Amino acid sequence: MLGKAFFADLEGIETITAPTQVAKLSEDYFRFSPILEPLLTGKVGDIVARPTNEAEVIRVAQVCVNHRVPLTVRGSGTGNYGQAVPLQGGLILDMTRMQTIKWIKPGAACVEPGVKLAALDKQAQEIGWESRMIPSTFRSATVGGFIAGGSGGIGSILYGQLRDRGNLRAVRVVTLEDCPRVIELRGDDVKKVNHAYGVNGIITELELPLAPAYAWAEFVVNFSDFMTAAQFGQALGNCDGIIKKMICILADPIPSYFTALRNYIPDRVHSALVLVAETDIEPFRELVREFGGSIAYKKSAQEASKGISLVEFAWNHSTLHARTVDPTLTYLQSLFPADPNLQLVREMCDRFKDEVMMHLEFIRMNGVVIPAAIQIVRFTTAERIQEIIQYHESHGVLIANPHTYILEDGGMKAIDRNQLAFKQTVDPYGLMNVGKMRAWLGKS
Ligand code: FAD
Repeated sequence: MLGKAFFADLEGIETITAPTQVAKLSEDYFRFSPILEPLLTGKVGDIVARPTNEAEVIRVAQVCVNHRVPLTVRGSGTGNYGQAVPLQGGLILDMTRMQTIKWIKPGAACVEPGVKLAALDKQAQEIGWESRMIPSTFRSATVGGFIAGGSGGIGSILYGQLRDRGNLRAVRVVTLEDCPRVIELRGDDVKKVNHAYGVNGIITELELPLAPAYAWAEFVVNFSDFMTAAQFGQALGNCDGIIKKMICILADPIPSYFTALRNYIPDRVHSALVLVAETDIEPFRELVREFGGSIAYKKSAQEASKGISLVEFAWNHSTLHARTVDPTLTYLQSLFPADPNLQLVREMCDRFKDEVMMHLEFIRMNGVVIPAAIQIVRFTTAERIQEIIQYHESHGVLIANPHTYILEDGGMKAIDRNQLAFKQTVDPYGLMNVGKMRAWLGKS
């Protein structure tokens, strides 16, 4: 229970205490996982604070430290693993009012964390630039939430993932020390808070590199055979002369879940959803011909900027649409090793068939184009999910387990000593996003 003094100390800062609103702002998209759902349902904060600037963030941090109240930072709450769910109540720090774009110049931008990725791109595109990568939730997701909780997305075929050196230039972070301060991290130091789920500092400003903005045409290409579609994806990824931003390959029946695209996707086809620079449409069509695909849908960049965009059917939006039709479906996230023949992709399709429906997203990793995957899984039991994960891992497929809220268990599965050391300095009382960092749990 928070005492009267706690509320009094927050005077002047916008807060929300109405239980239904607080409960709503305690959630994210963890319900995609039937394993996380029972663990996280009902975990709610006691109060939400909505700062408008860094000075207010510092004040909230001070109040939480003084009263030893847990603090969970939140952007738009579109994370999938319960990253923004408070496990032990306390204060939820909603950053969505900090929406100032401080500056944009060719090649870089500096923003407050609550800026939506769509808003950043709209402004950057006016000077011919755009984000290097965006999640398929770009319309609602915040820049701060993407950096602290996301991994990559549309654009990762060109620029790799968020964790790659160069994809985040600098951050300002507010600490939860006895006397909260602001620390600026630049260069490799940003790794201390990059993809740290907000366990070790409140990000109040970010400097990001931008990419030249191309006019992106959108295509759906259908294939009668999944492995041909997958090989097409790999070939397009490898084709340095064709500039592309997204290569999403979906095995039947995934495309049939896309109600809005039904006119373009007949039953029993496998589809490639692709964003290609308009200047490169001619060689792109030649590649489609070489692989025997048929172009069922084409939007120019101008048409694509209005109405539906294929971006919102790719990455984890595929799972979202599939779950709208069948809410029992869940998903996995994987990285397949580099292999021009995609042998392991074929093997996993043959082994699991319709139980694990293949969805590939080609990305660039350490200079090589590889298939990441967001497979859609017909859920039966938690044990079966574990079996599927173990089978993949024992064959050399890396699984970033989306069925855990523990930072280290989800992604690269290693304790990050730098992130832990930073937490020991900036959050000595362990108040930030309590229960999410295994390294800290082991310590306390
Ligand atoms: P939130 O969910 O609010 O927060 C995410 C994490 O960041 C939390 O741990 C939170 O505590 C922390 N955090 C937020 N703001 C701050 C801050 N200022 N300081 C410190 N910590 C902070 N992710 C991808 O990477 N790529 C995708 O393509 C993608 N597609 C998705 C599709 C769907 C349908 C869904 C539901 C999710 C998808 N995601 C994807 C996950 C998520 O949408 C993104 O990672 C998104 O960028 C998160 O932003 P957010 O503002 O919603 O963050």
